[in-house]
Amino acid sequence: MADDVFSQIEPFKIKMVEPINLPDKKDRIEHLNEAGLNVFLLRGEHIVIDLLTDSGTGAMSDRQWAGLMMGDETYAGSRSFYKMEAAIQDILGFKYVIPCHQGRGAENVLHTSLIKDGDVIPGNTHFDTTKGHIEHKKGRAIDCTVKEAADPYIDLPFKGNLDLEKLESIYREYGKERIPFTVVTATCNSGGGQPVSIENMRAVKKLSEKYGIQVCLDGARYAENCYFIKMREPGMDKYSIKEISRMQAECFDMMTMSSKKDAIVNIGGFIGLRDQELYDKVKNLAILFEGFVTYGGLAGRDLEAIAVGLYEGIQEEYLGYRIGQVKFLAERLKEEGMPVMWPPGGHAVYLDMKKFLPHIGPEDLPGPAFCAELYIESGIRAVEIGTMLNGRDPETGKNRPAKLELVRLTIPRRVYTHRHMEYVVQSVKKVWERKDAIKGMDFTYEAPVLRHFTAKFKWKN
Ligand SMILES: *Cc1c(COP(=O)(O)O)cnc(C)c1O
Repeated sequence: MADDVFSQIEPFKIKMVEPINLPDKKDRIEHLNEAGLNVFLLRGEHIVIDLLTDSGTGAMSDRQWAGLMMGDETYAGSRSFYKMEAAIQDILGFKYVIPCHQGRGAENVLHTSLIKDGDVIPGNTHFDTTKGHIEHKKGRAIDCTVKEAADPYIDLPFKGNLDLEKLESIYREYGKERIPFTVVTATCNSGGGQPVSIENMRAVKKLSEKYGIQVCLDGARYAENCYFIKMREPGMDKYSIKEISRMQAECFDMMTMSSKKDAIVNIGGFIGLRDQELYDKVKNLAILFEGFVTYGGLAGRDLEAIAVGLYEGIQEEYLGYRIGQVKFLAERLKEEGMPVMWPPGGHAVYLDMKKFLPHIGPEDLPGPAFCAELYIESGIRAVEIGTMLNGRDPETGKNRPAKLELVRLTIPRRVYTHRHMEYVVQSVKKVWERKDAIKGMDFTYEAPVLRHFTAKFKWKN
């Protein structure tokens, strides 16, 4: 009994607090109007619970804060670098480690080293920055996620898996000459934070070896993925998260990581490599883009916080709490009859706008309309993952209607309590109760690329 209940409580107590305030409704409406109805343009201080992202928004522990004080700011050969390198070698087994300022910095360095004009990079629903960097290097990302991933309600344990037949057909078509690597994102952020099984990763590795193609782990949430493997995959329960992490990493030749996720720091990232020749090549670009190889655009104290955070991020009690909190929010919303994508992923809960606001077509931006209404209702910030994010077809100039029209409620690590989550549930419900009166939106400003960051809207009449 005690053990069961313990596994449901937060495995920490709170030593420092930051007050949050709910502005009056009249002020919320004013703030939102000033932001052109785009919640992305709100000021943090006007938000009561911020579910925009789990990136760099986590709460560091007392050990991590103590680590900041211990950070070694030596330009070359910082002690903190060696500590971080040792942590990565221990938990992930990559011999060569290059720190970078964040995940996209790691992608820029690695992709510039490997991708040439006309290459293709298969993977499971590449994350936006990954795809952006591939395209920036004149490569093309090809999505090979299992087709079940497109169904928001089919209850399967590993909806982040790669479709091996599709992957092999890409290997046959392009061969190793045009495929510098395959990328596996685990958990799969853009696919709803869904995990990838160890069986699938091993099969990808085997297939890729057969065709002489390298495999890269986009491992921002590698630890959350390990937890899902432990909980859901037959025979895996007997291993520790660290053991699973090593087994997982063995399926890959290289890794990029945004430490702002599972290393629970506010900034940072790295590249992990096994091959010395590749390391020597990547190293030079890292120095050019990010900084010397023992700091990579970070302060010594940041490296120290990553080293500590990597170990905290693989603690089973922590992961149980983390994934459990996301599940709690998803289950409560479902209980209240809200349309939630199922099963919930590792870092966020997704609301299905096609069911929530069926009277608003994709062109009329149901996701941004919901986010605006949720903010007015409650001071909570959510984020659209749908047609607005998808942008326009560069050739035709038409909106690209998204397959899934979603709003993401993303949970920062160790920041909010279950009571905060209950407030989210009640707020979403209130919006639901008046959903039929919610109107669509039109753009009043739209940037040519990455429009979601800066767009402005007006309500339809
Ligand atoms: C966040 C993220 C990135 C990019 O990392 P940044 O630190 O935001 O630059 C890359 N891949 C995945 C899967 C991510 O979640």
